[in-house]
Amino acid sequence: MLQLFNTLSREKEIFKPQRKDWVGLYTCGLTVYNYAHIGNLRTYLFEDILKRVLLLNGYQVKHVMNITDVGHLTSDADEGEDKMELGAEREHKTAAEIAKYYTKAFQQDLKDLNILKPSIWAKATAHIAEQIALIKKLEQKGFIYKTSDGVYFDTSKYPDYGKMARLDLKGLKEGARVAKNSEKRNPTDFALWKFSPKDKKRQMEWPSPWGKGFPGWHIECSAMSMKYLGDTLDLHAGGIDHIPVHHTNEIAQSEAATGKQFVRYWLHGDFLVLNEERMGKSKGNFITLKTLKEKGLNPLAYRYFTLQAHYRAKLNFSWDALSGAQAALEKLSERVRELPAPKGKCEKYETKFLEAINDDLNTPQALAVVWDLLKSDCPDSAKRAALNRFDKVLGLGLGGLKKKRAASVPSDIQKLIDRREKARKKNDWAGADALRQEIEKAGFAVEDTSKGPKLKKK
Ligand code: AMP
Ligand code: ZN
Repeated sequence: MLQLFNTLSREKEIFKPQRKDWVGLYTCGLTVYNYAHIGNLRTYLFEDILKRVLLLNGYQVKHVMNITDVGHLTSDADEGEDKMELGAEREHKTAAEIAKYYTKAFQQDLKDLNILKPSIWAKATAHIAEQIALIKKLEQKGFIYKTSDGVYFDTSKYPDYGKMARLDLKGLKEGARVAKNSEKRNPTDFALWKFSPKDKKRQMEWPSPWGKGFPGWHIECSAMSMKYLGDTLDLHAGGIDHIPVHHTNEIAQSEAATGKQFVRYWLHGDFLVLNEERMGKSKGNFITLKTLKEKGLNPLAYRYFTLQAHYRAKLNFSWDALSGAQAALEKLSERVRELPAPKGKCEKYETKFLEAINDDLNTPQALAVVWDLLKSDCPDSAKRAALNRFDKVLGLGLGGLKKKRAASVPSDIQKLIDRREKARKKNDWAGADALRQEIEKAGFAVEDTSKGPKLKKK
């Protein structure tokens, strides 16, 4: 029985999908004007666990992830500049080049972290027609109005506005009265379509029934998720920062257009925090996976690090804690490697593991079960079999290690590799070099990759 904490009710609920054959999952992707930071990646890791847990429970998952390559403004209040155009200016490239480069970098990050690919990647710029069609639908139903700079959603016409976020609409309105005057009718109204400025040529703009311009940020997620997953989604996930604005607006515009519930289970992950401050793109505490790799850390150690906390708890980042996670993962991999071929079951621990992850994705508890299993008196081959199954959710690469190595690497060479890794970890470069020479003498070449040493026959 899978239980998930639904932001709509603020309670753990038993997950019941709409259909028998597949489950629809939508996750908000990256705005591709820069690298993802490891805070963003924490959210994608939590969503990957969610997806793997659904798969383990026997569901087929249709997973859509968007790529925001237009329309995400620097301010949530529909003001400021488009992040994509800003990124292009910064790097003296076209917005399309920026999008392509950072999309690829993002997809590489996901691969390095062993995050399963979505069934569908949906780019905002490839779905302009769908977004215009949705705005038209809202127009027919009387939810939109035009100002001098765009087309807006009138939140006062949608009675449930802000329900999930439990927004204090009255307070917001009073607060806004003292703030700057704008043509918006209500402070919570948001842009569906923005007009191109008259004095500046935009790189990305499209004709629309209301004037030349570009879509607002929120509309892409509604248009693309409903296109691929139907009017009502089983699950939608993202970081907690999206609750009050982005997801609140997605709900309003989708439900206003269809008259149906937009999402049945909303899941939100908490932040990665550095020195008590949320990691953010514009905050100067920006760490990427590339930086981790350059420091010789294994991306899967970051995966392990995030699994040590529950996704709804804040997670404090420190280099020490990450090194600790790397050491734990290495110890775990070593223990797994020593086990014989998989056979049988460790009933008690497999049940405990399933209970942990099915209890709102309790990964810290699941990791505790892994270590308890290793200490247990369960037969070694059954331990190995259980760990293979656990790794389908954890995604730490435990299952593959033995097979790959046993197939191609003689055990005496493997021992040399392991000793060299130990030397490297102790910064004993001379020792590591001597071991490399020994390995080369035996006819192999080692290449150090982000996933650890790779061996090739010379
Ligand atoms: P964005 O590109 O800003 O839309 O962010 C992509 C995803 O990362 C969203 O789901 C955000 O909620 C999430 N996110 C942003 N900052 C953090 C953080 N410090 N920790 C965890 N998730 C974050
Ligand atoms: Zn979104």
